[in-house]
Amino acid sequence: MQRLTHWIDGAARAPGRDHWLPVHAPATGQVYAEVAAGDAADIEAAITAAARAAPAWAALPNSARSAWLEKLAAALETRIDDFAHAEARDGGKPFALARDAEIPRAVANLRFFAHAATQFASESHHGEAGLNYTLRAPLGVVAAISPWNLPLYLFTWKIAPALAAGNTVVAKPSEITPASASLLATLSGEIGLPPGVLNIVHGTGADVGDALIDDPRVRAVSFTGSTAVGRRIGARAGAQLKKASLELGGKNATLVFADSDWESQLGTLVRSAFQNAGQICLCGSRMLVERSIYASFRERFVAEVLALRVGDPMDPDARMGPLVSQAHHDKVLAAITRARDEGGNVLCGGHALERPGWFIAPTVIDGLGPDCATNREEIFGPVVTLQPFDDDAHALVLANAGDYGLSAVIWTRDLTRAHRLAAALHVGMVWINTWLMRDLRTPFGGTGASGLGREGGMEAMRFFTEPKNVGLSLE
Ligand code: NAD
Repeated sequence: MQRLTHWIDGAARAPGRDHWLPVHAPATGQVYAEVAAGDAADIEAAITAAARAAPAWAALPNSARSAWLEKLAAALETRIDDFAHAEARDGGKPFALARDAEIPRAVANLRFFAHAATQFASESHHGEAGLNYTLRAPLGVVAAISPWNLPLYLFTWKIAPALAAGNTVVAKPSEITPASASLLATLSGEIGLPPGVLNIVHGTGADVGDALIDDPRVRAVSFTGSTAVGRRIGARAGAQLKKASLELGGKNATLVFADSDWESQLGTLVRSAFQNAGQICLCGSRMLVERSIYASFRERFVAEVLALRVGDPMDPDARMGPLVSQAHHDKVLAAITRARDEGGNVLCGGHALERPGWFIAPTVIDGLGPDCATNREEIFGPVVTLQPFDDDAHALVLANAGDYGLSAVIWTRDLTRAHRLAAALHVGMVWINTWLMRDLRTPFGGTGASGLGREGGMEAMRFFTEPKNVGLSLE
């Protein structure tokens, strides 16, 4: 059976204690590989390698670090199919989605931050208090912890700016979807990236998380994952006055107004709720629909959802694959049961598919108000609720109900209303008449239970550097 090892100091490394975790194919539920189950000793080896490599990496000219990232991007670009296949297998996402969107986005991340390495600039201030300029030095060794839903995309989203800014990295991908990060490690070896610059330690958060976060040589933690784990990591890092960037869960609202082009945009509306089986933090799991169109919207939306082809990730016609794990599948089914208990009407779906693997039929529920758990707690699966609203103010109250604040989408032709609502929504990102349109320069992140801090663009470069002001008298 294939074994996915750590990557430490420029070489594949088996776990010190020789423990391995099973890696499943969600489409069948079968184990197809094993991944290293790291422990504190493996983390120690990775941090030591990263600390050793840090001074030389930081001392490289920015253009040289940029060239390394470009080299990695170019190497990844030649292997998109292999990476997409790896993610279709261990994550269950449709191969075409990985090949056409997510792995190319990982290439784009590496390339964007290759450019950022040479374009990043710091401030200077000139005035009554003389001349001040800000130095922005790399932090040293940083930790990157990423989830299973967009494995390589979110992994590169973190390691690329960290490396571009001159840090060395110890990264921990999700133990549920370790394959593409392992492939990237091998690629980094093939292009000859200096040993110790990028280290990957696999394993569960419980086994390696604390050792990684607590080590004083690790100067910052960039985490994407659940709110519960994010709170824990934030508290741990905060106790040591260590920087932490926390990109957490969401319960995003999609506001559909009667004057919008909703009929011609039904495909996008369905995709915005069910892409990757709803396992994207930016999926809209609460559809808020103006009452005058509610009945016809519900009918057309449900019909479109019923037409979604759910199938094997390698089936080119499949638009939706399985859930990522047995545990997650069970959690989503329990959330559907809870929705029924709360009085929700299941308009379609609501059950597992009778086939091997962890498939759940795309599910649409209505009849539930903003205070029930179904509309407040993240489900992170193919489950969407519909709620009617009467006017802008009501839409805003419904959208802002709850603790999360990651993103929202507004569908309307009235742009004055759209801008007014965009300003009033308690979220970090708003789309108007589109979804998932990403400009890599923009700040990415959420408020409230959706996280702390922003990544993306120069925000990420600032996170991974320490500013130091230097003031000099001009008298
Ligand atoms: P998770 O929190 O269970 O795990 C995320 C990562 O943290 C994994 O690598 C895991 O092994 C690790 N981890 C777990 N416990 C840890 C600990 N005690 N210390 C250190 N590391 C630990 O999340 P998940 O189930 O992998 O991912 C789904 C969640 O991620 C959802 O809540 C989703 O909304 C969120 N997410 C957020 C964003 C965003 O940008 N805001 C993007 C994608 C996913």
